[in-house]
Parts: sequence; C-alpha cells; structure tokens
Amino acid sequence: NTPSPLPKETRIITVSNQKGGVGKTTTTVNLASALARRGANVLVIDLDPQGNASTALGVPHRPETTSVYEVLIGDATIEEAMQVSSDHEHLMCVPSTIHLAGAEIELVSMVAREQRLRTALTAFLDSSEQQFHYVFIDCPPSLGLLTVNAFVAGGEVLIPIQCEYYALEGLSQLLGNIELIQKHLNPGLRVSTILLTMYDARTNLAQEVANEVRQHFPEQTLDAVIPRSVRISEAPSYGQTVHEYDSASIGALAYLEAAAEMAERGARANTNHEGV
Ligand code: ADP
Ligand code: MG
Repeated sequence: NTPSPLPKETRIITVSNQKGGVGKTTTTVNLASALARRGANVLVIDLDPQGNASTALGVPHRPETTSVYEVLIGDATIEEAMQVSSDHEHLMCVPSTIHLAGAEIELVSMVAREQRLRTALTAFLDSSEQQFHYVFIDCPPSLGLLTVNAFVAGGEVLIPIQCEYYALEGLSQLLGNIELIQKHLNPGLRVSTILLTMYDARTNLAQEVANEVRQHFPEQTLDAVIPRSVRISEAPSYGQTVHEYDSASIGALAYLEAAAEMAERGARANTNHEGV
C-alpha cells in the first residue's frame, strides 16, 4: 500500500448516473476507503435517501440521527452531522436518513435551493481544522434537486458505467444536464472520471461496451476496471467496505488500483495547471 500523492486543494467529486444499480454507492464507499487507506482524509456525503453509503460505512442513520437532511434545510452544520466511519479513522461520513426522501419537494420553495449543499460544504471546509483531501457525494438515481445540489457543490463528476448492453443509453441525457449546470450554476464543473464497473472479462459484450466507452471518453476513462465480484456485493450487508471485508479480494485490489490512478491523474492535472 504505497501512499498516493495528496491534492493540495480538496477535490470534491460527485458520483452520478441517473440509472440505478450501476455501482454509484459501491464505487463511492470503496474508492473513499481506498484513498483513506492510502493516507488521505476523506469525507463521504450520502445524498441518497436509501442511505446505502451510510450503511456500508458503518454509520448509524436512524430517523433521529442528524443527517444531510438537516444540513440541507439549514438546521445543522456538516460538522454536526458528520460521523467517523467504522471503516477507517480518516474516513468520515455525513449520513442520510429517510427524511431526505421529502427534501426533494421541501427544497423547491427554499431560498437558493440549488446552492444549499455547496454553501454548507464551503463553510465546513473553510473552518475545519482538519484538511480534507477528498469529498465524495453519492447521488440518488434521479436528476432532481438533490442531484442538482451535488453538481453545484462539486468540482468533478465521476460516472460509474456498468458494462452491459444499455450502458450508454441515458448517458447523453446525463451529460446534457451537466452542461446545463455548467452554463447556469457551476461553470467549473467537469466530468473528470469514468469508471467501468461490474466488468465480466469472459463476455464479449463487456469488452465491446468497455471499448465503446473508451472511444467516446479516452481522457476520462480509468484504465482500472472493477470486476463483477461476490465479495464486493457481500460487504455492505456486514456494514463494511470491501477493503475491511476482504482486503485481498480482486474487488478490493481493483478499487485500490482505481483510487491510485485517480490520485495520480489529479496530481498530473494540478502540475499541468501550474505550468500554464
Ligand atoms: P447504485 O448506487 O448505482 O444504485 P450500487 O452500488 O448500490 O448501485 O450497486 C447495485 C448492486 O450491485 C448492489 O447490490 C451492489 O452490491 C452490487 N454491485 C456493485 N458493484 C458490484 C461488483 N463490482 N460486483 C458485484 N456486485 C456489485
Ligand atoms: Mg446508490
């Protein structure tokens, strides 16, 4: 486990794809855990009312738990809602609770409804004694106000793509929405990373989909791919990441590899910026 280069400024990464079940949550928690294990301070914000990221990180998210819902409606700060994960001492989580299901509607009539997460996160990062290297925001499978808040708060978008027949369907809608966000709400947002998930090397289809994604997004697509693995899917039922559940499994190693690649790419992108 060689430590990865740490970004000087916090990288805020929104994990999104309006399709459900493509590996958003799995990718969020296992990449975040991998980066924490490689020496980074990492915060996961669970923005899905289902609370699967909170579960996988071993963080209580009962209805009475202070959560991202209270943060969005202005009743709590991120500091107040944040908990240390059971996965790693440098991995924090702002959990989601069932109350978040109503937030999509409650937010509609609120002031600066698209900026509420960004405002809370900026205030937190500016005042926190601890420096955070990465913030991951796990999105619900829809393009409503919760996801808009995640896009406005983020600097980067990470899109997990499941290697199956309809993988690219709906992607243009997602990219179109991201463009709208760039135009009207967050000009700095960019799709930095695409990760192929649930890859089954034995099927031609998976390879074809992977090739097609790489053709469309040569810059963004990571070399590392996440294989379909039972260990990855078992881990959350124990309230664990795959790294805690079975650190030697191929799934754990794949996520470590993807995390290392993201860290390296980020470091390179920074150097390029400084050179300009
Ligand atoms: P999303 O957050 O996009 O809805 P999830 O991350 O919850 O998707 O994944 C959907 C389902 O697929 C979950 O049951 C999860 O455990 C399983 N899964 C995700 N990635 C893998 C993988 N690489 N191998 C096997 N199962 C996976
Ligand atoms: Mg999810």
